[in-house]
Amino acid sequence: MLVVMKAHATERDIADVCERIEKAGFRAHAIPGAQRTAIGITGNQGAVELGLEEMAGVAEVIRVSKPYKLVSRDARDSNTIIKFPNNDATIGGTEFAVVAGPCSIESREQAFAVAERVAAAGARFFRGGAYKPRTSPYAFQGLGEEALKIMAEIRDRFGLIVITEAVDNESLELVEKYGDMIQIGARNMQNFSLLKRAGRAKKPVLLKRGIAATLEELLMAAEYIMSEGNYNVALCERGVRTFADHTRNTLDLSVVPAVQRLSHLPILVDPSHGTGKRNKVTPLSRAAVAVGADGLMVEVHNDPDRALSDGPQSLFPDQFDHLMEEVRQIANVVGRTMTSPAVHSTANSAH
Ligand code: PEP
Ligand code: MN
Repeated sequence: MLVVMKAHATERDIADVCERIEKAGFRAHAIPGAQRTAIGITGNQGAVELGLEEMAGVAEVIRVSKPYKLVSRDARDSNTIIKFPNNDATIGGTEFAVVAGPCSIESREQAFAVAERVAAAGARFFRGGAYKPRTSPYAFQGLGEEALKIMAEIRDRFGLIVITEAVDNESLELVEKYGDMIQIGARNMQNFSLLKRAGRAKKPVLLKRGIAATLEELLMAAEYIMSEGNYNVALCERGVRTFADHTRNTLDLSVVPAVQRLSHLPILVDPSHGTGKRNKVTPLSRAAVAVGADGLMVEVHNDPDRALSDGPQSLFPDQFDHLMEEVRQIANVVGRTMTSPAVHSTANSAH
């Protein structure tokens, strides 16, 4: 159920409604929007009769027919914009968010070489893997905490926002400590205990769509995170498994407007895992910005032929420069902004 407050409801009105909900043993989630605040009720089975309609500042109490509540546009009348401390980059606002970096952090030299290039090209987010969920137990599993420390240095050196994947509760704790945003990977999209733990984290979460997840399953996974009180969630389309075998996965760009119709959460597109092929990353990046995605996640490596994971889909830095030029032009046409790389070169030259 959702309690929709009137536009002029006071903080006191909102607090009173939350208190009545919590006293009845349920959880209240006050979600402010541009015009009004909505309060989601969770922990209830079916309708609850608390006389909320009669309380001051309440416009209406609605039963939500969909299985998700907090992710839905009913709960929030404006798009979620994720903000970060000490950095003006956002996810979900007018600025198109570009997340780039190597699949795995392999060494300090490799990570710095990639970070320098992606920052110079205008990316504001750096994504590198420290804990890698690999299909084979014999494949490189990531450098763990050492990689997290390298990424924390990269944040300080280049002014990039650091995103990295957590694969279990233990790694999540460390990612929360060193990183700026917690990635939940495709294979863990329905790891409900991990989602709940991410929901209790103090940092935003980037949730990737499962390998064979429907739109509703993706939204329900986000609902798990939000139901624990973390409302800073961004979704990421990374391709789903289909019969088509010319690409690693089939990038489902139609999910972007479908998500945007139902949910206020931002959605990024990852054409690297989506296609598995370097030569398809730039064309699909162009398509992703054109379709209205809030950002991109792209794998870039300084020496892709020797990468320890996902080399074939990783762009050479020069290719990433070119991608950024093209994406920037399309972003302008669809009303998105991208800060010019010149702004970031100041951060680079400061050291
Ligand atoms: C990744 O982003 O490096 C990754 C492993 O992606 P996914 O979870 O989408 O496979
Ligand atoms: Mn990868």
